[in-house]
Amino acid sequence: MKIFAADIGGTKIKYCISDELGHFETFQEMDSESQNGGQAILKKVEDVIAMYSGIDAICISTAGQVDSETGCIIYANDNIPNYTGTRIKDILEGKFHVPVTVENDVNAAALGESYFGSGTIYSNFIFLTFGTGIGGGIVYDAKLNRGTNGIAGEFGHMIIHPDGISCKCGNAGCYECYASTTALIKEAEKVDPECSDGRILFEKIHNKNQRLIEVFDSWTKEVALGIVNLIHIFNPEAVIIGGGIMEQDLAVRKVSDKVHGLIIESFSDVKIVKSSLGNKAGLYGAIASRTLP
Ligand SMILES: [Zn+2]
Repeated sequence: MKIFAADIGGTKIKYCISDELGHFETFQEMDSESQNGGQAILKKVEDVIAMYSGIDAICISTAGQVDSETGCIIYANDNIPNYTGTRIKDILEGKFHVPVTVENDVNAAALGESYFGSGTIYSNFIFLTFGTGIGGGIVYDAKLNRGTNGIAGEFGHMIIHPDGISCKCGNAGCYECYASTTALIKEAEKVDPECSDGRILFEKIHNKNQRLIEVFDSWTKEVALGIVNLIHIFNPEAVIIGGGIMEQDLAVRKVSDKVHGLIIESFSDVKIVKSSLGNKAGLYGAIASRTLP
């Protein structure tokens, strides 16, 4: 079977041709140019699909809240203007006459880990991705738990510090205001304005910059606080953590140590594991979502 899969984000669109077992034939990335809006993004995807012949199925992972039954975007924020309401499934099926599945990108990444990545050996796990914000997915009994409206797993908006930093969701003190990569870089820049991205920060940490080590250490504690709450609620076998920053073994190790220092002892079997699919998890999950009931 020849599958076209795309992972649509606010910055990049990743896409591949694959079989149903996740063997990629091609893998490409292009800029989303999301300022042009949701319709223009979908047109870009359509143009790419049209370049390939003999496609049997189209699998889409995308930013925004998704109704995966209708394949429609329920809500998307300003990262992709005018994307809310886009009927991706109807549009692509009408044009290409093959089955189309649509899944939220973080849910897709959790599914990808479950079928093809670090999650294959676990039936119950929590997936979190750390970047500009914090997204999450819940895999329970080897199935994705989407919640009532398909939008479960908004871990970034757990309120960790009441009356804390204002969040774009309208509340204050949300987890992602303290534990996202953006939050880490913001704190690091206060100490050293050169630390404008994770790569520079980790170079300086490896060179034993003591003040930045302290910033990093308190960030890992913030990351751990949210994870500990989730472990106490869900009692998972594992917590899989992804996002560019977690490519650093030091980050995963520190977070794991902090988590194990905070959790109630009866939960201490839980494993903190790095995502093994990296930025391709969404594509793998889009492919996996095709086989879901
Ligand atoms: Zn929030």
